[in-house]
Amino acid sequence: MAQGRFGRMEYFVSLERALELAKQVSVQLGEEEIILDDAHGRYLSRSLESKVDDPPFDNSSMDGFAVRHLDTLSPPVRLEIIGISQAAAISEELVVEKGQAAKIMTGAPIPFGSDAIIMVEKTKTSSDGEWVEILAEAKPGFIRKKGENLEKGVEALHLGSKLTPHHLGLAATMGYPHVPVYKKLKVAIISTGDELKQPGEELQTGEIYESNSFGLAGLVKELNCIPIRYPACADSLDKLRSALDTAATEADIILTSGGVSMGEWDLVRKIMEEEGEIYFWRVKIRPGSPPIFGSWKGTPIFGLPGNPVSSHVVFRMLTRPWILEQMGVKGPYETIVPVKLLEDVKATSDCHTLRRVTIYKSDEGMVASMKTHQGSGNLHSLVAANALTYLQPGSSAKAGQTIDVILL
Ligand code: AMP
Ligand code: MG
Repeated sequence: MAQGRFGRMEYFVSLERALELAKQVSVQLGEEEIILDDAHGRYLSRSLESKVDDPPFDNSSMDGFAVRHLDTLSPPVRLEIIGISQAAAISEELVVEKGQAAKIMTGAPIPFGSDAIIMVEKTKTSSDGEWVEILAEAKPGFIRKKGENLEKGVEALHLGSKLTPHHLGLAATMGYPHVPVYKKLKVAIISTGDELKQPGEELQTGEIYESNSFGLAGLVKELNCIPIRYPACADSLDKLRSALDTAATEADIILTSGGVSMGEWDLVRKIMEEEGEIYFWRVKIRPGSPPIFGSWKGTPIFGLPGNPVSSHVVFRMLTRPWILEQMGVKGPYETIVPVKLLEDVKATSDCHTLRRVTIYKSDEGMVASMKTHQGSGNLHSLVAANALTYLQPGSSAKAGQTIDVILL
């Protein structure tokens, strides 16, 4: 259920304002405890403190011998081998005294009495295994100290963190067999348009294959949310109303595509005006200026543009940060890097300009090239690109200029 308080709808807002307005609406996401095996890609719903010191005890970072440093000052020197320290097998009786050494494996506890490790490559063991000749002075640094990576009680995994492979490894290191994560957000996806046919069907004149719902479902999955893709909805108020009603009961948020421009047949805008709640309509970004954000019977709804590139770009710039915010993720949500432009980019007045570019390393450093036709219906231009220009409202850029791009 959307929570938010709005007055009048705002029209043609900046990207920052759109994000700010969207932020005023939130969904209550439940939590669940899941085992680490199932946690990859999920978002932590609480911060976690380490239950142990890492490492839990002083141990050797080398295979070799545990010795007393003072005994190794004038090599070569012979030391009596008194025993062995293997992983998980420390013996209280193993005490290294003056003139003695204990064999040790990587990761094994440091025996009492010793304060240095000499690596096996710097030693020669007698054939009967009674003594070892130390060929070099033992150097400090081969002992991993208890708690040197992480001390018990330190909060090392934070609310909103996406659990990547190394996060999962650290959760295990910290002693967690299961972790608290947000429940997966259910996202309804409804494409609209009389002209839309499913791929695989025969196209009649005037028809095109419906593609937005597949792309949007992928974008939703990348955030580890659950897409619920509905059949494309015809341009009819009754059909749209019934699709939105179903979506509002089955999903946490609704995405529609198409029907949000000024035209007579832009029925998502029309039905939202008459029967829903609109918080803003139209955003100053190119491509993708027509989106609507509001709620349908208490469920937040992003009315995305129908043009395929626009629907992807608006999801990326508006919906994705909003969803991440619901899961406690702190921004920035984009990786922005400076690159040198190879062609001019003309800004659309007042709008952030998000052209599709390919960036690559050249003799001049990282450069960006705009190889494809930039129409907002040309999905191939997005496939061919690996970045979007991030030009501030109204600012054009010339070839040779260094600008910011968003990595895709
Ligand atoms: P609209 O905003 O509904 O006027 O759509 C703008 C353009 O995007 C039109 O050319 C539509 O045919 C196209 N379009 C709308 N929805 C989709 C979709 N789901 N898949 C592919 N193209 C679409
Ligand atoms: Mg349409």
